[in-house]
Amino acid sequence: VPAYWCELAWLGGDTPTAGVVIDVDGERIRAVATAPAPDPRAVRLDGLTLPGLANAHSHAFHRALRGRTHTDGSFWTWRDEMYALAGRLTPETMGALARATFAEMALAGITTVGEFHYLHDGADAMGDALVAAASEAGVRLTLIDACYLHGGIGQPRVGPQRRFGDASVEAWARRAGRRVDADGVRMAAASHSVRAVTPDEMAVVTAWARARQAPLHAHVSEQPAENEQCMAAYGRTPTRVLADAGAFSSPFTAVHATHVDAADIALLGAAGVTVALCPTTERDLADGVGAAAALRCAGCRLALGTDANAMIDLFEEVRAVELDERLVTGRRGVHRVGDLWAAATVDGAAALGWPDVGRLAVGQRADLVTVSFDSVRLAGTPPADALAAVAFAATAADVRTVMVDGRVVVADGHHVAMDVPAELDKALAVLR
Ligand SMILES: [Zn+2]
Repeated sequence: VPAYWCELAWLGGDTPTAGVVIDVDGERIRAVATAPAPDPRAVRLDGLTLPGLANAHSHAFHRALRGRTHTDGSFWTWRDEMYALAGRLTPETMGALARATFAEMALAGITTVGEFHYLHDGADAMGDALVAAASEAGVRLTLIDACYLHGGIGQPRVGPQRRFGDASVEAWARRAGRRVDADGVRMAAASHSVRAVTPDEMAVVTAWARARQAPLHAHVSEQPAENEQCMAAYGRTPTRVLADAGAFSSPFTAVHATHVDAADIALLGAAGVTVALCPTTERDLADGVGAAAALRCAGCRLALGTDANAMIDLFEEVRAVELDERLVTGRRGVHRVGDLWAAATVDGAAALGWPDVGRLAVGQRADLVTVSFDSVRLAGTPPADALAAVAFAATAADVRTVMVDGRVVVADGHHVAMDVPAELDKALAVLR
């Protein structure tokens, strides 16, 4: 039975524990104990060991827009560039790009990804490519099959948007229902947004998710214009439209929730909704800063996503939740560091339908992520401060070892199955 001795490990709360022995049996953690010195037979993990990080919101194919779409324009001009890319992807090019992008996530300590998938092209081939890509990259996948039926409220899908949809909500339900949970893959549902799905259609998507006990996600109030269009059409906010469609009767994740008002926050909190924040994307697209602390106080759980994948670094997302809110409120310490790590691990995994992922505890799936302190960023970190130091100063490049379901996926900072930069280079070159 392989045992791992962690110099420091996060077992919950706001401080790390020194000298933690983790026994792994197959894909699960069998025992967790403390020992000041390592057993010579144990594998030694120097640095801080965290549970697997959960990326609660990703669109893998957006990785091809990195570096090309950041200097000007708006959310809406960025969306046009994204549409142009979506218009020319095939299952083969999507699969190669997703495989390399998911492998980049593994290198960054992400062991579970929620892929919010809407580029269906009316068939299963794109989804199949994503499932194969995650498996080859060694990460656990929740395939969030998004219903996307309209180009805007009361508008048809035009241009590349035509590839996002199904003929009807019933056709979406039939297609999504053909896929079943498998080893390392879980199905979830989404109503893409109030722009793309009507309230009646949302009710069908919600019923589909509830019947399967599948997580349900939606983009909510990412941009002020979405709120304005929703108010004009329905006289209600997107949060209220989703609530009235019954969406919160299923385990629900609101992605972004950037422009929500006090009544929306109360609704989301009372329903115990998870809010998936994507701060690096929200700042790139000039979306705004969400009211994360107020949402948490109201009863929401928080999760984190890399969304447009202009950057794949959950350490940056973790600190952005706190630092962005400091700029808005003029206060420091809005979030406890343990709460930030819960968003990046256990609460994100739960939002993706994996209640047995995200804690270093007996019975949990054996996902271990070790952050080394041998870089210039973290050298000299006092052990007692390690949890905060990693939250505020680490980068994805400091991840040294990653284990998923008891299998080592990243060793000494390298992916065990592929040359990830070379794979990215190849997948991106084809799309240029
Ligand atoms: Zn998104």
